[in-house]
Amino acid sequence: MEKTQRVALITGASRGIGKEIAKKMAENGYQLILNYVSENTNLEELRKEFTGVKTLFLKADVTDYSSCETMVKTAIETFGRIDVLINNAGITKDNLLLRMKEEEFDQVIEVNLKGTFHVTKSVIPFMMKQRSGKIVNISSVVGITGNSGQANYAASKAGIIGFTKTVAKEFASRNILANCVAPGFIQTDMTKNLSQAIKEQIYQQIPLQKMGEAREVANAVFFLASEENTYITGQVLNVDGGMIM
Ligand code: NAP
Repeated sequence: MEKTQRVALITGASRGIGKEIAKKMAENGYQLILNYVSENTNLEELRKEFTGVKTLFLKADVTDYSSCETMVKTAIETFGRIDVLINNAGITKDNLLLRMKEEEFDQVIEVNLKGTFHVTKSVIPFMMKQRSGKIVNISSVVGITGNSGQANYAASKAGIIGFTKTVAKEFASRNILANCVAPGFIQTDMTKNLSQAIKEQIYQQIPLQKMGEAREVANAVFFLASEENTYITGQVLNVDGGMIM
């Protein structure tokens, strides 16, 4: 009998870390639901990168709960199941606390933390029915250590860790495993505007003395989401070149 192909939903999969996670899963036989939000997304280009893979591209703003529910409903109608959820969509709006506007704080919390809540809550009932599921939420080392200029982002990423541990506890009996991956400094659009001086400062804090690549995060996410992971839940795996230990 042919093995059922696993199905993964990845938020913020149009660029950076999310896209690398999607590629890693595609290489390993997954069917994919790839979420994005921007009108400017070049879907034609993106489709080419996933030629030969059963892939559904779904536009949805993770800050909008009903859009998330619709996205998950469409995914279930197409594939019949969701084995893996990767909550990856995220933004930064950096500013020192004294200058940070309320909107800057709220927007980052809405996308990073509330978005994770919206998509997880939409997917969980289907995983419960399946009596299996893997959830990997993308946090950040900054959610553990804090970082000047990132009160909003650090709070959102710390919140994701608490949220993930709670999901791990509430749904372990349904064989749903939930973990976080906490990347350090990874080369993507999110970090491309850091000045050389800031980058030099960052390298001094990283034992491996370089920024990470999106692929290196994807490899860790892939393992936690895979069938090989049967006994790790509620954990935070740092992918940071040894930056925090
Ligand atoms: P990125 O290149 O800026 O990509 C962000 C992704 O999130 C894009 O696909 C974007 O979609 C999507 N997104 C943003 N707002 C969204 C919304 N409201 N609804 C749905 N999707 C939305 O960022 P990245 O560096 O790959 O980061 C991915 C994750 O890793 C984030 O959670 C980030 O916080 C985390 N992380 C990154 C680093 C790093 O150094 N890069 C370090 C630690 C943690 P569009 O393309 O449609 O805009």
